[in-house]
This record gives sequence, C-alpha cells and structure tokens, in this order.
Amino acid sequence: MGEREIPTVARLRPFGSTIFHEMTSLAVRTGAVNLGQGFPDSDGPASMLEAARAAISGGLNQYPPGPGMPVLREAIADERARFGVDYNPDGEVLVTVGATEAIAATILGLVEPGREVILLEPYYDSYAAAVAMAGAERRTVALTFDGTRYGLDAAAVEAAVTEKTAMIVVNSPHNPTGTVFTRADIEAIADIARRHDLLVLTDEVYEHLIFDDAVHVPIATLPGMAERTVTVSSAAKTFNATGWKIGWACSTPPLIDAVRTAKQFLTFVGGGPFQPAVAHALTAERAWIGGLRESLQRRRDLLAKGLDEIGLRPSVSNGTYFVCADISGLTDMDAKDFCRMLPERFGVAAVPVSALADDQQRYRSQVRFAFCKAEDVLVEAITRLDPLRDGL
Ligand SMILES: *Cc1c(COP(=O)(O)O)cnc(C)c1O
Repeated sequence: MGEREIPTVARLRPFGSTIFHEMTSLAVRTGAVNLGQGFPDSDGPASMLEAARAAISGGLNQYPPGPGMPVLREAIADERARFGVDYNPDGEVLVTVGATEAIAATILGLVEPGREVILLEPYYDSYAAAVAMAGAERRTVALTFDGTRYGLDAAAVEAAVTEKTAMIVVNSPHNPTGTVFTRADIEAIADIARRHDLLVLTDEVYEHLIFDDAVHVPIATLPGMAERTVTVSSAAKTFNATGWKIGWACSTPPLIDAVRTAKQFLTFVGGGPFQPAVAHALTAERAWIGGLRESLQRRRDLLAKGLDEIGLRPSVSNGTYFVCADISGLTDMDAKDFCRMLPERFGVAAVPVSALADDQQRYRSQVRFAFCKAEDVLVEAITRLDPLRDGL
C-alpha cells in the first residue's frame, strides 16, 4: 500500500498501536517467556467456573438487566460494605464490561469536552484514551521515585489543578509500579478534591492483591468523598478471569446515573452467564482470594529476588501483578530498545514503563515485569535473564 493518511480520527491517532501489542507479538514470534502482558496463566476458583457453565446450561444467555443482575449487584454492594462504604445495590451499583468500560463510561458521562483530567503517571493506558474520546485534556503528574519506591507528590497534584480541572484519576494499588498509596496519600488527594470541588475516579482492580503490611484505603471511605467519587473494580484480577470482562462502578445516584447514561450506549450490557458466577465467587470464595494473595506475594518475592541478583534493580512492589526494575546498572540503553532486544536475545518479554507515561525521559531505564505467572515460568525467565549480569 502506498503512503496515505491514516483514517483514524485525530484525537485517537496517538493511541493507534500499543507497545503491549508489539511486545506480545515479539514474544510469540520468538517463543519468549511473556512477562509483558499482565494476565495469569491459571484459572479462578473451580466453583466460579462451574457456576458459569451452569448459567449457560440453565439458559441465562439473553440480555441481563441494564444495571446488571440483582444477585451480582448485591454481592458487589456487600463487597464494598466490607471495604467500608455502603452502596444501595438498586441505583448505586452498575455492572460493566470490565473495569475498562467503567472507566470509559465514567469519563464520558462526567467530563465535558475541553475540561481537564489529572492522571498520575505512569498510568494505565486506557485512562488517556478515555479522556481523548471524551474530548477532554489530560494533565499528568509524575509519581515521585526515590530509587526504591514510587510515591505521591501531593503538592504537584495540587499545582496541576486549574479552573478547567474536572476529575482526578487515582489507581491504588498502582499499575505499573506496585505502589500502594498510604492513608496520608489518599487523604491528601481527597483534601485537594474537596477544596477544588473535583470528581474522583478511583480504579481499585488490585484492591485484594496487597502484600506485606500494606493497607488498601478506598478514597470513598473518607469524609465527603463518597458523593464525589466513582469507585471502579472488576473480577478480572481478583479471580484470575481477565477474559470475562465483568467489572463495576459504584457511586451515589447523580454520578452513577451519568455513568450509566454513557455505558448503556457503549455496550448496553455484557457477560450474562458470567454475572451470577462472579456473584457466587464474591460471596463464597473469599478464602480463595486470600490464597491468591499469598501465592502472588511469594511470586513477587521470587521475581524481585531474581532480578536483584542479576543487577536489574527492582523497586518496592506492595501490590498488583507487577514489579518495575531499573536497568541502568547494566546498560545505558533506553528501556524501549532494551525491551525490543530482550525477547530475541534472552527469550523474555517485558514492557518499558515509558509506554505508560507522557514523560519518556523520566522512565528511560524502567522496565515492568509481571509476576502473575506460574513459579516455574518465573524461574525459567530468571534463568534466561541470568547472562545479563555479565553485561550486554
Ligand atoms: C487490568 C486493569 C484494568 C482492566 O480491567 P478489566 O476488568 O479487564 O477491564 C483496569 N485498570 C487497571 C489498573 C488494570 O491493571
């Protein structure tokens, strides 16, 4: 084909091809161990899988109700109550097609074109695309990095607020860094939101995947926050079911009505037979979640220790599926070039953190590795990376 203008609309053109796609195809082509994309290589609780099969056999194959099946909305409301916020399952809980749709519908339904949304970078890539789809502008604030741990600079968030700011997006536990914001961090963001009358979108998909002595503080639990916050989560990460795309948004009626207005014309509904299965898991598989957390913490330890011994300095990860590593002790290479070289020469795929950021320079030596894989897969990856310790 000859040279011609790509027909994608201008506001979406920057999102055309993602580094995840590039890295995964590279991993497939080279047979590399894929620690790039964050999906588990084992299934969720057996009783949840069985409940989905039973729902299909039992004829739950037509459109579920617009806001989601009552049994799932009740299970989600119980789940939020355990975290300390009471939502009415009728009118304050909305089932979505994954957290991804909940995020897009929240921004589309609540942010006017031309307004600004504050993102903390590095950030999950769908936030920026959703802001662009809404015709809004993103303002990014970098997390701090002291060489060991990524953290929040509340003063920088405050400084990014303008008359146009409509919303702050918070993600804790944080993808890609694994940082779990402290109570003081969450209080500082809440304070800014209240003083400037801003909405908050909080992405809590890793809320159960927390290690060591870290504590998850949902921002909606703080005074004056429930009525200005949309809380988003999903079954994907809690139950090893990233392909099911069952997510949810919770908020008070004026906000959730706006989210529903956008959502009903994105997909209307989704995942009929998976909804009762996730409801079952949220209710009956609490112990399974505890087991997942423990095993992920062990796998985090295994990968972080392996990276450290090779000289790829891992930073502190207290949650999520990910640990970030600093390659500058081994090479001057930009992390993007490093990640393009890695599958071919060492048989491992990873993702440069700059792919999740606007500021390319700041993250030029940071690489994200996923540890949500079987232990033998992680051991194999470390074995393959081992020759790196002798340099490139
Ligand atoms: C995986 C992920 C999502 C998407 O969740 P789905 O339910 O699969 O749509 C959203 N936010 C973050 C931070 C994630 O890592």
